[in-house]
Amino acid sequence: MMYKAVCLVAIFLFCSVRAEELVLSVGELLERANRNVVRGPDEPNVIEDIAVVNSERNADPCTSQSCKWPKSSDGKVYVPYVIVNHFTSRELQVIQRGLDSFSSVSCIRFTPRSNQRDYVSIESRSGCYSYVGRIGNAQTVSLDRNGCIYHNTVQHELLHALGFNHEQTRSDRDNHIRVVWDNIIDNMKHNFNKINTLNQGTAYDYNSVMQYHRTAFSKNGQATMVPIPNSNVSFGQATQMSQSDITRINRLYGCCKYTRNTYNTIPVAILKSIAM
Ligand SMILES: [Zn+2]
Repeated sequence: MMYKAVCLVAIFLFCSVRAEELVLSVGELLERANRNVVRGPDEPNVIEDIAVVNSERNADPCTSQSCKWPKSSDGKVYVPYVIVNHFTSRELQVIQRGLDSFSSVSCIRFTPRSNQRDYVSIESRSGCYSYVGRIGNAQTVSLDRNGCIYHNTVQHELLHALGFNHEQTRSDRDNHIRVVWDNIIDNMKHNFNKINTLNQGTAYDYNSVMQYHRTAFSKNGQATMVPIPNSNVSFGQATQMSQSDITRINRLYGCCKYTRNTYNTIPVAILKSIAM
């Protein structure tokens, strides 16, 4: 009897923890996993969940060819990866599902590395982080076993590796989000610096998996971002890549097969700016 009761309590506690994780947004998961982490001397400088090569890199829009992954003659973009061998089979399943999720919606193909020079090395390091775009040679995508192994966090970090920044740092974000600077933790304000992003002719997307939540980096529990004009719309709750996230991948990488329909719906002037 006592044994049964203990089991039931254990199951209840386990389910409660799982339920809490399921309702956390991608930004909350990242913030929680990266809180107070102490990184090793062999790890890069990381600003929230973005690894930086040098201080200029983070402000650099990933629009040049140099940080895109190359396109193969068959029209696909192969991104070689290795997964360092310290994940459980359940964790590997989540990571693999994230890697594979790009294949059905874009020309991106994360493929096991053979001998390519540039590749993504998926490792459980200190917190969740990734570089923005291809930096050359091995580049770590850290998916800490302690807090980063979720479908949305995996997709989020892989989108960084493909060259995408956070939605709230978009060049046009002030038209869609009002940043409440007074509510932000003092040494976290840099997370809201705007970047001269290439937005691929897509609208600002509150449901992007790259959009943080309403109280991200709040020092008082109050909102740090308020949507404009309707302050009540929900945002930053994505459980997976949004349609806009997918469209941006396809436009940045010129995945023709996947962009044919969407290109017909946007003005020529925007198409020209995308092509630049
Ligand atoms: Zn991020």
